Parts: sequence; structure tokens; C-alpha cells
Amino acid sequence: MSNRWIPELWRLALTLVPAWLIGELLGQPGWLVAAALAGLLAWHAWQLYRLDRWLLEGGAREPPDAAGMWRHVADAIARSRKVNRQRKRALATLLGRFRESAAALPDAVVIIGVDGEIEWFNDAATPLLALRPRQDVGRRLTDLVRHPAFTAYLAAGEYSEPVEFPSPISEHLRLSARVVPYGRGQRLVTVRDVTRLHRLEAMRRDFVANVSHELRTPLTVITGYLETLGEDEYVRSSKLTARTVQQMEEQAERMRRLVEDLLMLSRLETTAAAADEVRAVSVASLVADIENEARVLSRAQGNAIRSECDASLWLKGNAKELYSAFLNLVSNAIRYSPAGGDVFLRWYDDDEGAHFAVQDQGIGIEPQHIPRITERFYRVDKDRSRASGGTGLGLAIVKHVLQRHGARLRIESNPGQGSTFTCDFPRSRIERRPSTTKALNA
Ligand code: ADP
Repeated sequence: MSNRWIPELWRLALTLVPAWLIGELLGQPGWLVAAALAGLLAWHAWQLYRLDRWLLEGGAREPPDAAGMWRHVADAIARSRKVNRQRKRALATLLGRFRESAAALPDAVVIIGVDGEIEWFNDAATPLLALRPRQDVGRRLTDLVRHPAFTAYLAAGEYSEPVEFPSPISEHLRLSARVVPYGRGQRLVTVRDVTRLHRLEAMRRDFVANVSHELRTPLTVITGYLETLGEDEYVRSSKLTARTVQQMEEQAERMRRLVEDLLMLSRLETTAAAADEVRAVSVASLVADIENEARVLSRAQGNAIRSECDASLWLKGNAKELYSAFLNLVSNAIRYSPAGGDVFLRWYDDDEGAHFAVQDQGIGIEPQHIPRITERFYRVDKDRSRASGGTGLGLAIVKHVLQRHGARLRIESNPGQGSTFTCDFPRSRIERRPSTTKALNA
């Protein structure tokens, strides 16, 4: 028992014992003890009343001047209230500082709740997203920022990459949004103005497209003259001139391929996938055409080309783009199989979707290069790539085409044994058609 109780026990004893003794003297001990107890109870009730009044007043004043145990209770309550007040003040200061810094950010910050309703946003959300202070709190963010790309991004719940869309204020203002989920279903949306970056990126793309386009005409003229020169009697009469013209022709052809690939890449980057060019494609007949072309390509090395295709498995997409991507993979399989191994093409589906796989028995790729080989001009061995007629852009084209089809490129490889490049298409792109249906691939 705490020693705080000792005075309280003394108080009880000093009230009851004299009352009992006097009661004995008067011959009424029971009545006097009862009266003393009633007095004590009234005193406690009075202390309780004062404490309650003090609490009701908010406890801002000093605690009531109580006695005994009541003093300790009042002091304990006053202490804990003081600590709470200090803690609250510290939290309010912290929250104030957070709001001040968030408000001063050049990026918009919006906190949304479980149903996408706005809970809070900073000052920058007004010039970037047209959110009105106070009025828009509680409204759904997607009702106010209505761009389909942003709505789909928020709904998808996959926030590893940011999404870009035009601002609701002006088409020319380009925004990039990122979402961080936290707490119980809350999400922090940060939005940046990327107009400058977007313009620079567009300028870079336009520049590459324009340069490639401008190079096309002079190249055609040079190639034409070289062809004529190559057939000229005088040129053919000397080994040196014949060889020189032949090398010039080869280099002009390399440049032509480079320009074509650059143009293809910038077309894939600058134009959205045209809806009217997306239709069901018979991949089996596409592969048949690619196989024929591959046989011509592999004639010198003598690779055996085999294929296994599910003819009733069609794919919704752009036939020309798919043809170019698949041909790039097959041409790589041949070019990087100098010893003439088999190249096996497979088109099939499973629970996850449809897959086009190109398997070779070529030189393979060291694991450290795999994450980078879809970058433009990234080559494991520059000389080998050039010697085999590569532009360094093939896999970048493949990656872009696949992105436009919601697909991914998967690469497995064992150095010295061969590689398998697989294009994974989502199930939503599949269409089943009887295998007798006539294929019309452009
Ligand atoms: P390139 O025109 O140089 O072949 P790509 O973009 O098609 O350019 O390929 C990039 C690099 O990836 C190549 O230079 C090569 O090193 C490597 N690569 C691509 N396909 C294969 C393959 N089937 N086997 C081995 N290496 C490959």
C-alpha cells in the first residue's frame, strides 16, 4: 500500500475512535459512529464536487486546494494534463511546419482518402490542377482532374512509374503524377510540371526524325550513282576501284538501314497507336512469311529454321509493327548464331497470355548485358554487330512495338549455348478463330 494512504487511515481513525468513545460515554456509540461516518462521507462528496467542477472548467486553473488523497488525485490529473498540452503543442507545431513546407513546394501535393476523395492539398495544386481551396475538399479527385490516363492510373493501383497528362488548366501544361499509398487506404499524389522536359523531348524526337528524313534523299542519290558506277566497265576493270565501289555500296546500304530504323523508331515514339490499324492478326501466317525471309537471311550460315504455331490463336494489333518486331528478333537469332545452329519460332498461349518465342543456339549474352540490350545503340560486341549488318536499334524497335501492344520482352540466355527472346502478350489481346479462317496480313 502506498504511504499516501497512511494519513487517510489516520483521518478515518481520528474521526471514528473519538466518536465511538464519546458515544460510549453517552450510551449511544452506534449513533455517534454513524454520524461521524456521515460527516466523513459529506466531506469526501464535497472534495469530489470541487474536483469535478475543476475538470468541467477544463482544468486550466490551478487544481482545487484539496486535502489528503484528493490532493494527490488532483495533482496527478493536473500533471498529466500539462504533459498532454505540451505534446499537443509539439504535434501542432510539427503539423504546422509540415503544412508550411508542403505548401511551399513547387509540386502539387494532394492527399486522397479510400474513395479517392480529396482530404487536403497544398497551394501548388491550384495553379497545376485547378483545385479550389476549401471548396474542393471532400470531392473526388478524378471528378476534377478528368484525363483518362490519370483516371486509369489511379484505378490501376500500380504506381511504380509516373503518368503524364495535360493539365486541366491548359493543354500546353504537361504534368507528371506519382502516387504513394500510405496509412489506411490513403494515397499521396504528387504532381510536377514537366512541360519543359516534354518540349525538350519532343524537340529531340523531331530533330532525329527530321535529320533521318533529310538524309534519305541524298542517300538515295548516292546509292543510285554507286550502283551505276558498280556496273561501269572502267570501274570493274580494276580490282581496286571495284572493291572501293563495292565497299562504298555496303556502307551506303548500312546508312540506309540506320536511317530507316531511326525513322521507324521516331514514328513509334511520336505517333499514338492508331486505332484503325489495330485488328486481329493471324500470327501463324505472319510467322510463315518471316520464316521465308529468315531462310534467305540464313542461307550463308545454313541455320535450320523451324516453327510451331497455334493457327487459331490470333492477336489484336498492328500487323506491320508486329512483323517488323518479330523479324528483328529472328534476324538477330540468325546473325548471332554464326556456327549455323537451329532457330526455333514458337507461337502459343497459356494462362498468362500469348507468347511469341525465338530460340537460337548462338553465342548467347552475358547476364550483365541483358538489362541494357534494348537501349538504342547498346551492343555487346560493336564489331560483331556492325559486321553482321546490325544498326544497334533492332531491340529498341522491338521494345517500342511491344509497349504499344501492352506486351513485354523476356530474355533468357546462356553464353555459348544460345538465347530465347519471348514476347509476352496479355490475354486481352487474344482472339480465337477457327484455324481455317483466311489470314489477311498486310
Ligand atoms: P544490333 O543491330 O547490334 O543487333 P539490336 O538492338 O538488335 O542491335 O541488339 C542489341 C545487342 O544485343 C546486339 O548488338 C547483340 O550484342 C545483342 N543480341 C541481340 N540478339 C541477340 C541474340 N539472339 N544472341 C546474342 N546476342 C544478341
